[in-house]
Formats: sequence, structure tokens, C-alpha cells
Amino acid sequence: MRRQVRKSGNGIKVFSFDVDGTLVSMRFADCVWLQGIPEAYAAKEGVSFEQAFDFVKSEYDKIGDNRVEWYKMDYWLQKFGLSTTTREKLFGKYKGEVEIYEEVESVLKVLKAEGFELVISSNAATEFIEFQIRPIRKYFSLVFSATSDFGAVKKSNGFYARVCEIADVKPHEVVHIGDHWVFDFVNPREIGMTAYFLDRGRSRSRNIKEEDDEFVISNLSGILDKEVRGGNYSHSRDK
Ligand SMILES: [Mg+2]
Repeated sequence: MRRQVRKSGNGIKVFSFDVDGTLVSMRFADCVWLQGIPEAYAAKEGVSFEQAFDFVKSEYDKIGDNRVEWYKMDYWLQKFGLSTTTREKLFGKYKGEVEIYEEVESVLKVLKAEGFELVISSNAATEFIEFQIRPIRKYFSLVFSATSDFGAVKKSNGFYARVCEIADVKPHEVVHIGDHWVFDFVNPREIGMTAYFLDRGRSRSRNIKEEDDEFVISNLSGILDKEVRGGNYSHSRDK
């Protein structure tokens, strides 16, 4: 099968995508974590939503997104003593909030038609990923959840090394795209992948060095211009 995978002019075989903020908006995840869970906690403790929200949020912040627990629903349900709340209930309640960004499917379609292999490399728990990407799941051959599959966050370069190992490609044959500066840009580049930082709001609050500027895109279509349509081959990060 792999023999049919086409190489682009710069030797790229695989495109890897982050999920939250990249393929889908944060709306669904925010509803589950910042609305559903505080609501359940408020009901259980008999406090206001605001009080419950402040407490829940401060507990999330204590753990932080560098730790695996932060991504684990069961950990939080247990910590807050929410024995009657389940993931299924919360997902069902907010399923209407799943929002795939509008350009995503057309970009995936082009990449697939060009013969590239598409994979997902996310920190989100597998259930969150699979639930949100259902309409576009068919484009991806592999779905990696750093936290569910490897018990680590994308902070570690080891994660991207394992993705390459399992996808059976070298780092320089992979392009990763995501919206987290460290997890999606700094770390994959460290092992030799090409990475694009997705800055949908074009906030540019960060001081981006001039040489990195060409690796910043404002939506996923940017990837087609740079890596597929005869664009940027001379800028590949082949090492
Ligand atoms: Mg993200």
C-alpha cells in the first residue's frame, strides 16, 4: 500500500494535523469542560454555576496542559465526585457544538487526491478526537492521541518520533500543522519535521523570527500553497 504513496517534490509523504483549534474549533471542548462539568458540580454541591466554574477552573489550572491528567475525563469526574455524570451524557448534550472549520474538508480532499497519507497527532483524549472528526474521519489513516495512546503530551519529542515510527516514515518526510507554539511547532521541528504554526486569528502576539515567518499560516489552505502547488520546495527542512 505504501508503495502508492506519492512523494511531493520535497520528499513529503505524510501530513499530520493537530485537532483542537486546527481541524475543529474549541467550542465543543470548551462546552464540555467549562460548562458541562461546572454545571454538574454546581448541581451536586448546591452552589451557583459561577462558584462551581471558579473552583473547577482553578483545579484545571493547578494541573495544567503539560500533564496527562488534564486531558482525562475520568480523572476529573472522579476528582469532583461526579459519579452520575458520564462522558456519553456530556458528549450527547453538546454534540451540536462540534464545529469543523470550513476550509478543512476541501484541503484534506486535495492532499488525499495528491496521494499523501494523512494522520492526526493530538493531545486530546481519543474519545474527544473521534467524536469531533466523524465527518472527516475517512481522510485519516492513523489517529494518534499522545495522552491516550502514549500517556504523554506532545511536549515530548518522543511522541513525534513514535508517530514516524508507526507511520513508517522519516521525520523529514512529515509536515505537521497545529496551533500550539510548543506542542505543534517547536517540538516537531526539533526532530526534523517540517512544521507550520496555524495562527487563525493572526494574532501575532508572539515575536516570530523572520526566518520562521514563512511557516506561519492563517488557515489550512496555506499548506496547499506552500507544500503542494509547486510552492516552497526549496524551503523544506531536509536534514
Ligand atoms: Mg490545538
